[in-house]
Amino acid sequence: MDAYEKLVAEAEADHSGYWSRLAREFLGWKTPFTRGLDDSQAPFFKWFEDGTLNVSWNCLDRQVERGLGDKTAIIFEADDGQVTRASYRELLARTCRMANALKARGVKKGDRVVIYMSMSIEGVVAMQACARIGATHSVVFGGFSAQSLRDRIQDAGAVMVVTADEQVRGGKPLPLKAIVDEAIALGGCETVKNVVVYRRTGGPIGWVPSRDRWLHEETQGQPETCEPEWVGAEHPLFVLYTSGSTGKPKGVQHSSGGYLLHAALTTQWTFDLKPADVFWCTADIGWVTGHTYIAYGPLALGATEVVFEGVPTYPDAGRFWKMIQDHKVSVFYTAPTAIRSLIKAAEGNPEVHPRRYDLSSLRILGSVGEPINPAAWEWFHQHVGGGRCPIVDTFWQTETGGHMITPLPGATPLVPGSCTLPFPGIAAAIVDETGADVPNGQGGILVVKKPWPSMIRTIWGDPERFKASYYPPELKGFYLAGDGAIRDAKTGYFTITGRIDDVLNVSGHRMGTMEIESALVSCTALVAEAAVVGRPDDTTGEAICAFVVLKRARPTGDEAKKIANELRNWVAKEIGPIAKPKDIRFGDNLPKTRSGKIMRRLLRSVAKDEPITQDTSTLENPAILAQLSERN
Ligand code: ATP
Ligand code: MG
Repeated sequence: MDAYEKLVAEAEADHSGYWSRLAREFLGWKTPFTRGLDDSQAPFFKWFEDGTLNVSWNCLDRQVERGLGDKTAIIFEADDGQVTRASYRELLARTCRMANALKARGVKKGDRVVIYMSMSIEGVVAMQACARIGATHSVVFGGFSAQSLRDRIQDAGAVMVVTADEQVRGGKPLPLKAIVDEAIALGGCETVKNVVVYRRTGGPIGWVPSRDRWLHEETQGQPETCEPEWVGAEHPLFVLYTSGSTGKPKGVQHSSGGYLLHAALTTQWTFDLKPADVFWCTADIGWVTGHTYIAYGPLALGATEVVFEGVPTYPDAGRFWKMIQDHKVSVFYTAPTAIRSLIKAAEGNPEVHPRRYDLSSLRILGSVGEPINPAAWEWFHQHVGGGRCPIVDTFWQTETGGHMITPLPGATPLVPGSCTLPFPGIAAAIVDETGADVPNGQGGILVVKKPWPSMIRTIWGDPERFKASYYPPELKGFYLAGDGAIRDAKTGYFTITGRIDDVLNVSGHRMGTMEIESALVSCTALVAEAAVVGRPDDTTGEAICAFVVLKRARPTGDEAKKIANELRNWVAKEIGPIAKPKDIRFGDNLPKTRSGKIMRRLLRSVAKDEPITQDTSTLENPAILAQLSERN
C-alpha cells in the first residue's frame, strides 16, 4: 500500500507528468510526444498527441525484438477441446499477411473494418492487422442478429467485414457469414466493398463473387512482413458499441496511444503479471474486456494467454476448471454472471464442482462486468481460488478503456463486494447532482474528476451525444460514469450500488438495487440470481420488485407464494423491513444482454406491467420477459 500511496501522490502532484512517465515506460514510440494532456478543447481531451506509434508493432514486433519470438502468445482451445498455439513470431507473421491482404483490397488508414468473428486466433489477428495499417476496427459480438450487425456496419460506415463461415459453440455450428449476408441485404451497407471469410467449419454458405473472399486465399502468398503505419497517438484504434444495459448502444471511439498505455499498464498492475504467467480472460473479443485484456493488454506485455472458443457449460459446467488445470492458468479473469451460473451447476452436480480439479496453478482471480455479490465472491475465493488467491473486482466500462477502480493484488486489503480503491492516476469520486463531494458513508454519483489517457474520445459520429451523456453541465466538467456508488466511512473503499437510474426511494429511504440483490443472493440455500427494480407506488413512493431465479425449479402457485414470503422475511432480517420486496416474481432466468448483464431497465417495465417499447436489440433471451410478467 505504500507503493500505491506513492503513485497516487505522484499523480496528484503532476497528473499529466505521471501519465507521460508511464507512457514512455510502457510503450514504444516512433516519434516521442512532447506533451501529455491537452485539455484545450475539453471535454474532447487529447493525450500524447504529437507522438506517433503503432499498436500492433507494440504488441508483436517489440516482443520479437525483445527475444520473445518463440514464446507462446496464444493458447487457443476450440469448442471441441482441440488446442493450437501461436508464438509471438507466428502471430506477427500472420498479422502482417492479413494486413497486406487488407491493403491489397484497398483498405487504408482511417477506414473502418467490422469484425464479426468467433473467438479465434484469426479474430485477434484481424484486430491487430487493422491496427497495423491504421484501419479502425469495430468488433461486433458473434451473437448479434442481422439487424444489430447492420446497424453497426451502417453507423461505422465500414468498407469491409471480416467474418467466418460459422462459429462453434456448445457443440453446435452457428452461422456467421449467413448473418452478414442477411445484414447487408437489409440495405444501408453500401460502403462495404469486401467480405473476407475465415473458413472455420467448412459448412455451407452463400457466396457473392463480386464481394466475398476467402481469408486463406487472400493471405496466400502475402509477405510475412508489413511496415506498420505510424499513426498519431489520437488516431482512432477502434469503435466499440456498449452493451446496451441502459439504452441504445453507443459507438465508443478509442485512441491508439492513451488506450494502449492503460491496456498494458492495468494488465501489468491489476494482475501483477509475471513473465511465466498463463493469463486467461474469458470475455469475448466482441466486448471491451476482450479488446483490452485479450487483444491488446497481454500482448503489449509479451504475456502468454488462453483464448477460448466455446461456452463454460460444454461439454459440462466443469469446462473452465478443466481448462485452468490443463493449461496451468495462473491468472483467471471472468464475469459474475459466469460465476453465478457455475455455482448453481456445481451445487446441482458434484462432478463439475471446482474441487474435482487441480486448480493449484491459480495465483490471482478477477471479476468484471457487474457488481459481484459477496456470496458469489466468497464461493469464487474459496472453491476456485482455494482461499489463497486475491480477487480483483475491477470496475470499469467500455468508455473507460481499462480498469478504473480495482484492488491491486497483494497490496490492497480485500473486502468482498467492494472494488476498493481507484487505480493510481484515476480521480474517481462520489458527488451529488450538483457535482459537490458527498462525505464517505453517503451514496451518490460516481464521477472521474480528471481526464485519463484511455478515456472515450467521442461517440462515433455524434459528439453532441458524447457531451450530453458523459459531461452534463451540472457536473462541472467531471466525467459521469452513470453508476451510483458509496465509499466506506472508515476505509474509503468504493462499492458500486447500481446504475444511477436504479437507485430506489422507498418511503424516503434511498437504497441501491445492488444491496437488496445481494441480500437475496446471500440466501444461498434458495437463490441463484436476483434483480431488483423500483415501481411507482401510491403509498411508499416507490415499491421494491424483485425478480428471482432459484437454485431449484421455478415455483408456481402456493409454493411460489410461500417462498416469496420466506425471501421477504430473509431480506427484512438482512437489511431491515423497509427493504422487503413488495412483489417477488420467479423466472428460469433474467433478461440479459448478450454479454450477460441483467437488463434492469426492461424489468422496470415488466414490474409496472407496461409493454416494452425500449431498444431490445442486445437482449439475449426475449422469451423470458413473458414469463416474468406473470404475477404470483
Ligand atoms: P450501456 O452503457 O449501453 O447501458 P453497459 O454500461 O452495460 O451498457 P459496458 O460498458 O459493457 O456497457 O458495462 C459497464 C458497466 O458495467 C459499468 O457502468 C457498471 O455498471 C458495470 N460494471 C462493470 N464492472 C463492474 C464491477 N466490477 N462492479 C460493478 N459494476 C461493474
Ligand atoms: Mg454503460
